[in-house]
Amino acid sequence: MAKQFRIGDVVRIDGDVHAVLGSDVTWVVVRDGDDATLIDTGYPRDHDALLASLELLKVAPESVNAILITHAHNDHIGSAERLRAEYGIPVLMHPAEVPHARRDFLDQVSAGAVAANAWRPGVAAWGLRAVRNGGTAHVPVTEPQAFPAPGPLDLPGAPIPLHTPGHTAGHCAYLLPATGIVVAGDALSTGHPTSRVSGPQVLPAMFQKDLPSTLASLDVIAEADADILIPGHGPVHRGSPRAAVEAARERGAAF
Ligand SMILES: [Zn+2]
Ligand SMILES: [Zn+2]
Repeated sequence: MAKQFRIGDVVRIDGDVHAVLGSDVTWVVVRDGDDATLIDTGYPRDHDALLASLELLKVAPESVNAILITHAHNDHIGSAERLRAEYGIPVLMHPAEVPHARRDFLDQVSAGAVAANAWRPGVAAWGLRAVRNGGTAHVPVTEPQAFPAPGPLDLPGAPIPLHTPGHTAGHCAYLLPATGIVVAGDALSTGHPTSRVSGPQVLPAMFQKDLPSTLASLDVIAEADADILIPGHGPVHRGSPRAAVEAARERGAAF
């Protein structure tokens, strides 16, 4: 039987790269000595679990050099503003995601779309959990920052942003070149409570701002020089991103 992970579980992926399971979502801690890069932050209600995961990894919050955001959905930016305000950690993202993180607008699945799909297996239970975890809370990042320059970032793990629009306009995956890991965010998942299938897939259409763009962006993931993929939702994929992309393309969106 597959191991059952609990919220707050920390999974060592490679060297100093750890994936942490939040409420139906994963964030990633990349350490370099006492420094660290945090990629995504879970739901607002994951805040304590997020701090506990840093403590477990012996990373002081004030030693986190930056928070990288894959995209500004509540399950990924839940603690970003609190960490920025309390510890002065910069919150970085693709320029196209900056106004979204500021909540100049919100491109997130609506309550109406979730209700319309509530008859599908898993959707109603997931929707209730999402609300409880702060999925509909107003958690803008008040000072989101665009990447300072194209290419690798001068941060632990030297992450390279891979612009993968579709799920949102400014969505980015991050390639960690030294460890051959792609942190995929919601560009590609390997499972979701609203999907009946497990394995590489794109999230159901109700979660996509622009599904054709999401499918086109899979090429960017496929070309990444890596052999491990950490999705925002679902278990870690060990194997080439290209193989994951091919499987996801074959499968298509669940609905
Ligand atoms: Zn998302
Ligand atoms: Zn997500």
